[in-house]
Amino acid sequence: MQIITHFIAGKRDEGTGTRQGPVYDPSTGARCATVAFAPATDVDRAVTCAADAVPAWSDMTPLARARVLFRFKALLERDMDVLAGTITREHGKTLDDARGEITRGIEVVEFACGSPHLLRGDFTAQVGHGVDAYSVRHPLGVCAIITPFNFPAMVPMWMFPIALACGNTVVLKPSEKDPGASLLLADLLREAGLPDGVFNVVQGDKVAVDALLTHPLVAAVSFVGSTAIGDYVYRTATAHGKRAQALCGAKNHMVVMPDADLDACVSALMGAAYGAAGERCMAVSVAVAVGGVGEALVSRLVSAISALRIGSGLDPQSDMGPLVTQEHRARVVGFIDEGVREGATLVVDGRSFKPGGLESGFFLGASLFDHVRPEMTIYKEEIFGPVLCVMRVDTLDEAIRLVSDHDYGNGAAIFTRNGDAARIFSARAEAGMIGVNVPIPVPVAFHSFGGWKRSIFGDHDVYGMDGVAFYTRIKTTTVRWPAGLAQGTGFAMPVS
Ligand code: NAD
Repeated sequence: MQIITHFIAGKRDEGTGTRQGPVYDPSTGARCATVAFAPATDVDRAVTCAADAVPAWSDMTPLARARVLFRFKALLERDMDVLAGTITREHGKTLDDARGEITRGIEVVEFACGSPHLLRGDFTAQVGHGVDAYSVRHPLGVCAIITPFNFPAMVPMWMFPIALACGNTVVLKPSEKDPGASLLLADLLREAGLPDGVFNVVQGDKVAVDALLTHPLVAAVSFVGSTAIGDYVYRTATAHGKRAQALCGAKNHMVVMPDADLDACVSALMGAAYGAAGERCMAVSVAVAVGGVGEALVSRLVSAISALRIGSGLDPQSDMGPLVTQEHRARVVGFIDEGVREGATLVVDGRSFKPGGLESGFFLGASLFDHVRPEMTIYKEEIFGPVLCVMRVDTLDEAIRLVSDHDYGNGAAIFTRNGDAARIFSARAEAGMIGVNVPIPVPVAFHSFGGWKRSIFGDHDVYGMDGVAFYTRIKTTTVRWPAGLAQGTGFAMPVS
């Protein structure tokens, strides 16, 4: 059985711990690997190694660091299929989807390749007589990055390329459910010429996370995952004096206006609700039908669902693969049971679906609820599975109120032909990322990604200029030159 190890000081490292976890192929349900769980002592070795690497890496010119990232980008493109295969085998998503997540990660690497420009400082001449001032961005030191199972390559790449470009070193703690991609990324960074110790990976669970959150040499923590854990990570990291950001759970609404092109809405909803088996933080899990469009929308969704092809992610015919683990599948089934108990109409029930030949895989069919109400558990909670809830309201105002009153505020979309409705929605809906006739509005790498409300803790989004701001601190120097012109002793606050 393959052992998925840590990566410390430029090489794979088996660690000293005795705890391990299983990694499954969700399509077959068979165990495909074992992942080592780092104890605090292994985390300490990784952090210490990353701290030792800070002076030389941060002292390199931004151009030299960017050139490593240029080479990394080329290697990602070269090994796209190997990486995508690993993601599909451990996560279950289709190969096309896995390639898509790598491509979105590469876009952040491309953004980070522009870091010599992004790190340019500000200069002001003559802030006083004969006095100039300049501000430059300094790295923070060791950055810990803790990531979820659903994008094992893209989510780490939302963060580490920018952290590295800014002169920091990194310890990544990927999800223990699909850890294989993390080591391939580490290998490619080494091949690209990244000095040993600048990028490290520790595998594991809460033990490894806690060791990172409390380690005195960790300067900053970036977390992506569920809201309950993100809340804990943010509080613990900040209580230990670290800069922190935690991007968390979601319940994304797509509002369908009566004037929208229904065929376009249905194809958008199918991909956004059931793509990656709904295991996306930007998945649409609620469709809000406005002003009588509900009946037609639901009947078209039912026929689209009947055409959905569910099977192994390695099969190019599959639209949707299995869920990541048996436990997660059981949790999603529990939500569907609860929705039925609470009185929502289960129009399509995916609970008993099994693809031929893959009966032991963690598959669920697509499920569709209609007449969902705000007080129901299936509306309030993030299900993170192939379950779409339809709600019916009379007006755009009611639809906006639903989005804004929800605890989560990651993404929200509106489908309409009316520019006024789109503009009002975009201005008023309380969510961090808005789509107008775009169901999954994940911003491109030169904007930034982040939700509102319980979908985020901390002041910074990830990637884009917010990423640069998060991974740097500003130093401002005020200069009088030549020194011989210094004025005499002054006891009052200097003014120009
Ligand atoms: P998770 O919260 O279970 O795990 C995330 C990370 O935290 C993993 O590395 C895991 O090992 C670690 N962890 C788990 N339990 C912990 C504990 N008790 N103490 C400390 N660390 C712990 O999330 P997941 O199930 O891997 O991922 C799905 C969640 O991630 C969903 O809620 C999804 O919405 C969210 N997500 C959010 C975004 C975003 O940008 N907002 C992006 C992707 C995923």
